[in-house]
Amino acid sequence: KGNDGKFTVTLIEGDGIGPEISQSVKDIFAAANVPIKWEAVDVTPRLKDGRTVIPEEAIDSVTRNYVALKGPLATPVGKGHVSLNLTLRRTFNLFANVRPCKSIAGYKTPYDNVDTVLIRENTEGEYSGIEHVVVDGVVQSIKLITREASERVLRFAFQHADAVGKRKVRAVHKATIMKMSDGLFLNTARDVAKEFPHIEFDAELLDNTCLKIVTDPIPYNDKVLVMPNLYGDILSDMCAGLIGGLGLTPSGNIGDECSIFEAVHGSAPDIAGKGLANPTALLLSSIMMLQHMGLNEFADRIQNAIFAVLAEGKTITGDLGGKAKTSEYAEAVMKKL
Ligand code: NAD
Repeated sequence: KGNDGKFTVTLIEGDGIGPEISQSVKDIFAAANVPIKWEAVDVTPRLKDGRTVIPEEAIDSVTRNYVALKGPLATPVGKGHVSLNLTLRRTFNLFANVRPCKSIAGYKTPYDNVDTVLIRENTEGEYSGIEHVVVDGVVQSIKLITREASERVLRFAFQHADAVGKRKVRAVHKATIMKMSDGLFLNTARDVAKEFPHIEFDAELLDNTCLKIVTDPIPYNDKVLVMPNLYGDILSDMCAGLIGGLGLTPSGNIGDECSIFEAVHGSAPDIAGKGLANPTALLLSSIMMLQHMGLNEFADRIQNAIFAVLAEGKTITGDLGGKAKTSEYAEAVMKKL
């Protein structure tokens, strides 16, 4: 926080529709007098000694400010680059990916009143990137699970349940098959649960969770779900589907020191530069960021304005069946503030 009472936050506008949806966030934050100063940085990767690296200035900015808002980054295919998103996660040790999915009035899906929170381990498991050829035609991919990383994400899940007022934490696993790796995750969960006696803890097999959550998601509203990397990746997109898809889903990547908030969707190259993008997912991510910073009053005000515009359904973007441009939607939100 600076002498002017404003918090400096790193802004990574991103590629494709990134700059357009970032502009909506900047405009709406300015109209709501949010005490934030943006520090825009470029994260275009550089190749250094054969490795993809993020520019120093970007790393310094996030390290200094602790909090960043990030637009989508296009991952070049087949150019030897590691995904930049993965690089960011590794650089800042963003160990937990938090994905809330809440039904939005005005956007009809098969279920009303969905309100799930899923936390995905973000650093290891099936995405450890340890793969090799054993002999021609046989490859091995290693799923790495450590007590340390499991404990960290599980403890965060309980703390997050407290923070958002959920009474239960459920670990999702396949320890029946992966007895050692998921077994370690599950046993660690049982140990960590003892530190939070006021929160109810149980566990569920992943396949069972999938079946039950698409059959009736409402029993999941009072729980925080926590799970290893790959399960979380897939199940969180499934939850997004329950509320209307990726265009409406925010996320937070939480680390020990720094946190980066981002929309779940990509850079949408097919509509980039045309003023057609829906900025809602990035806006909802910026609201998660405000809550993380303790600026709840501003978060509530902006969120209510967004939900009011969506519920009215008059000024919504093409992906939701409307005709509004990105900027027209943002203006409608500002009028509701
Ligand atoms: P995408 O999410 O960019 O697009 C999928 C479809 O959804 C497209 O038709 C697009 O027009 C639409 N869409 C997405 N966001 C929208 C929005 N806000 N408003 C309206 N419509 C929207 O997925 P993709 O096409 O598979 O990926 C494009 C690029 O984005 C790739 O380079 C990919 O690597 C990258 N990507 C980045 C992230 C990230 O930075 N976190 C996530 C996913 C994909």
